Amino acid sequence: MLRISELKLPLDYPPEALPAAIAARLGVPAGDLIQWSVWKRAHDARRKSAILKVYIVDAEVAGEAAVLDRLAGDPHVRPTPDTTYRPVARAPRGQGLRPVVIGAGPCGLFAGLILAEMGFRPIILDRGKVVRERTKDTWGLWRRSELNPESNVQFGEGGAGTFSDGKLYSQIKDPRFLGRKVLTEFVQAGAPAEILTEAHPHIGTFRLVTMVERLRAKIEGLGGEYRFQTRVSDVELDRGRVRGLHLHTGEFLEAEQVVLAVGHSSRDTFEMLHDRGVHIEAKPFSIGFRIEHPQSWIDKALFGPCAGHPDLGAAAYSLSHHCANGRTAYSFCMCPGGTVVAAASEPGRVVTNGMSQYSRNERNANAGFVVGITPADYPSEHPLAGVALQRELESRAFVAGGKDYFAPGQLVGDFLAGRASTALGEVVPSYRPGVRPTDLAAVMPDYVIEAMREALPVFGRKIPRYDDPEALLTGVETRTSSPVRITRGADLQSLNVRGLFPAGEGAGYAGGILSAAVDGIKVAEAVARAMVEA
Ligand code: FAD
Repeated sequence: MLRISELKLPLDYPPEALPAAIAARLGVPAGDLIQWSVWKRAHDARRKSAILKVYIVDAEVAGEAAVLDRLAGDPHVRPTPDTTYRPVARAPRGQGLRPVVIGAGPCGLFAGLILAEMGFRPIILDRGKVVRERTKDTWGLWRRSELNPESNVQFGEGGAGTFSDGKLYSQIKDPRFLGRKVLTEFVQAGAPAEILTEAHPHIGTFRLVTMVERLRAKIEGLGGEYRFQTRVSDVELDRGRVRGLHLHTGEFLEAEQVVLAVGHSSRDTFEMLHDRGVHIEAKPFSIGFRIEHPQSWIDKALFGPCAGHPDLGAAAYSLSHHCANGRTAYSFCMCPGGTVVAAASEPGRVVTNGMSQYSRNERNANAGFVVGITPADYPSEHPLAGVALQRELESRAFVAGGKDYFAPGQLVGDFLAGRASTALGEVVPSYRPGVRPTDLAAVMPDYVIEAMREALPVFGRKIPRYDDPEALLTGVETRTSSPVRITRGADLQSLNVRGLFPAGEGAGYAGGILSAAVDGIKVAEAVARAMVEA
């Protein structure tokens, strides 16, 4: 089988054009093409008047070796790699203590699945509730301003990405095609098969809920065990080794191999780990606001006359600008046709994020509009100083929003002019429970505001109306990635605690659903190797 990349066709090509293009690309008669399939599909909208579909395809042709020889210098024709996932170990008979996974987000879920598939019968703990009960609590904040600190957008089955756009792509290097394993499991659990072939797949919130439930059933069927509403409140260490976990119920769970997949918002857990002497360091992340425009503005700006074409869907963007003050301002976690969501997990704090449904057909486009910061910007050199900064900004947002979980908001025109907004404009905010107009500049450090004021007109030149005076900012966006790294060594164990495997976004080793799930697989393999060698 041959893999052919950079195969380009017009947006509205007839069905027979793709096999014809494959044969032409390989320089073989159409009759020599035995079979073919699409590996990835994207579109190139750089020329709005001539949008292209871009394919990576796998093709079987007669005389494959000769074709490959003839095209040896062509970087876009290669033998198709083997992407099958193969387990690295098998649980020995009488394996001893079961491995424990803390966190049922994408990282913990895939760590649990891989351990279960290898026969290790993991125990998966999560402080939050099963996904359907969690959904009710999450809506409680959005509809009634009632925050449950243990069951919300950040905590509970499925983890932080459950109420999201469900974007399933990543920039990580993935030579073993572990991302394919993740996507394949998702499809078996109910995701649309197109996530395997779309270059930028997404599944939206509702489908994620069902998929998470089905994956739980699979793990349980393989001998794994879940315990929800079970917060790990302490770790028992002895001479640099994990001996067990104290649960908030008072129970002690003996354990020698623990995957720590707690996400970026488990601040009390970071504090506990730091108090116990687990090596933690401050790491860079980004802060800012969320920006909303009507999706129709973005579609028109990016797709021109092709806006609304059924094959293109709602347009997505990614923007970045290096500012004169040395900062980088960029768009983050863009959600086409989605909503801005209240993403706080602590009382008295306001945090924004974004989500969408599979259809992406809500009125507005939203994206984080954030500026990169480093530990040099944090209030102290303490490893958890980034957490302290997040808390400070989120508390300021709570006060600026009126202390009832409304988000503070400002029109872009007012933000650029340096005056408070007193009313909302053309863009109807999607954030619930609501948005109160104010001066957002009072909430963020000056260097962030300065960078944003410089970047907005630059982005407006790339996407017309991006800096429209009526576009809307809400805030604050502080949970862009983990403010800490729980550093691990080559064996993926904590630098100074044997048996503790920091993993996923909270530990600083992932930045999204797919990368967190892939990291979960890698860590599960490391746990399995450690257990087999023990
Ligand atoms: P998490 O998903 O955060 O899971 C951690 C889990 O650990 C939680 O369920 C928590 O309850 C549990 N936990 C924490 N502490 C303890 C403890 N002490 N004891 C027991 N359990 C504990 N990423 C994308 O790739 N695409 C998107 O479209 C996208 N949209 C997003 C939208 C929103 C609103 C949010 C909040 C995030 C979004 N993300 C998105 C980011 C993505 O969700 C995260 O990168 C990903 O979930 C990280 O996975 P994780 O498993 O490492 O951690």
